[in-house]
Amino acid sequence: MERKKSFNQEKIQIVNRCLVIDFIRQQKICSRSTLACLSGLKQTTITNIINELMDCGLVVETGLMSGSRGRRSIGLKLNDDKYKVVGVRMTRSVFYVGLFGLSGQIYRKKKYAVSHGENVEVTIARIRSAIQMTLDENRDCTILSAAMAIPGPYREDIDRLLFVTELPGWQNYPIKEALTKDLEIPLYLVNDADASAFSQYWYRNKRYLLYVLAGQGIGSGLVVDGRLARGSTGLGGEFGHTTINFNGPKCPCGNHGCIEKYCSLLVLYENIRNRLRTKEPSCLSIDDITTETISEAVKNGDPVACEEYRKVCSLLSIGIVNLVNQFNPEIIVLGDELTQIEPDLLLSIVNDKIQQCTQLLVQRDLTVEINPLSESPALLGAGAIAAQHIIDDPSCIINQVMR
Ligand SMILES: [Zn+2]
Repeated sequence: MERKKSFNQEKIQIVNRCLVIDFIRQQKICSRSTLACLSGLKQTTITNIINELMDCGLVVETGLMSGSRGRRSIGLKLNDDKYKVVGVRMTRSVFYVGLFGLSGQIYRKKKYAVSHGENVEVTIARIRSAIQMTLDENRDCTILSAAMAIPGPYREDIDRLLFVTELPGWQNYPIKEALTKDLEIPLYLVNDADASAFSQYWYRNKRYLLYVLAGQGIGSGLVVDGRLARGSTGLGGEFGHTTINFNGPKCPCGNHGCIEKYCSLLVLYENIRNRLRTKEPSCLSIDDITTETISEAVKNGDPVACEEYRKVCSLLSIGIVNLVNQFNPEIIVLGDELTQIEPDLLLSIVNDKIQQCTQLLVQRDLTVEINPLSESPALLGAGAIAAQHIIDDPSCIINQVMR
């Protein structure tokens, strides 16, 4: 009986500590009394938790700050100088490695090209050495964990990416096992749409949202009360593999007419190239099809660029209507390369389609917006997920100090 009580107390202590660290992160700088107010915990509990967090250097005082009713109190913040994490974003053509503070602040970012058809083992070895180099170059702080955002549905329990287009060799390869070989820190893998969704919670404090990633692939991530909802085995949110045409072409996932086959950035490129091959008049050149050149062409009213971009936006919006009816979200954030071509046009097409195709009560309190974060949400989300693992359980730091 006594043992059970102490187990419960320990659990409560962990939950309270996590709550306090999370409030400090959200507030960036705040006082002990603000923490007591926000958390509902007693001042003495806050004092004890802060003492523990300051002893291990996770939290530092920032000096006097003005509080309510003219009272001055000491500010507290997460100690980015001492503890950091690594966030990695893998795409079909590049990967990024970022160094983050526990607060979410990004301190450094490096970009590495991945050549078309590069062997998966070569790419994984390059990512691993880039992470290791980040560790080696930053020995003045302690890097606690890493997370990597990857395209495609990833099952963490069996360490397998189930299928992914345009990345031959990655499917069914033990990515985590290979990445963490001889790596000093724990590493977490997460789907890029999930990471992007999580970035909206961390950096914009949106607690309930649906993120639609529309880039080289199509995906979605759902955040419910500040936590990712990823399904029973982490494979949820595969919006790209929901069908908008059951008679459509077969997809590697097994389904027919998957939305990713109709409105990814790569499909837009191919559709434009096909029209240019027929010598249709356009300011675009077949050898220079990028988001920038298409964006410029759409702005100039180029018929090929306008028609093809409108077409993919329109097909994407059919899928978004399905998501609206399925999840009844409060906010939908659209992000990634396809949205950057002509964000206002995309937004108006999506909003029109929602208006035409859903019930008034469903659409009334729904906001659709383009991701406003200037840094890549998938990279930010990877850094945030690495940091959240420490915030959820900082015992690796605290126990080290107590030993
Ligand atoms: Zn599919």
